[in-house]
Amino acid sequence: MSNIFSKIISGEIPCHKVAEDDLHLAFLDINPVAYGHTLVIPKMGIDYIFDMSDESLTNLMLFSKKVAKALKKVVDCKKIGVSVIGLEVPHAHVHLIPINAIQDMTFGKSIGISQADLTALANKIATNF
Ligand code: AMP
Repeated sequence: MSNIFSKIISGEIPCHKVAEDDLHLAFLDINPVAYGHTLVIPKMGIDYIFDMSDESLTNLMLFSKKVAKALKKVVDCKKIGVSVIGLEVPHAHVHLIPINAIQDMTFGKSIGISQADLTALANKIATNF
């Protein structure tokens, strides 16, 4: 099914890429709830994360772990929070969010960040991946 994330995978629309392998892509959320808010997606087209096979879900989480480690090196925070929602975009994805307090995981807000700052941040995380 075509959606905004499948178009990012195919290169039809751009993203602030932080990491990629054969099966996954990680890029910055365009409306971050916290500085460094990153999305990790499988390249296969599947909507609901818990419809993924055990192997694919394990691979997604292991790739997310590698991205989280790179993210934590770049963004000053206590931990990288993990969340799965999927109500807006029907393509499985994991939210990785640098957190210092529980409020940093609150959705429905955006910190507001320029495209230039997103590009610079993505490059920094990519370098540490
Ligand atoms: P949800 O499907 O509810 O987990 O939310 C989808 C997330 O994708 C939201 O946090 C959006 O800000 C984010 N998002 C939507 N379009 C893009 C895009 N083109 N690039 C990066 N992030 C996006």
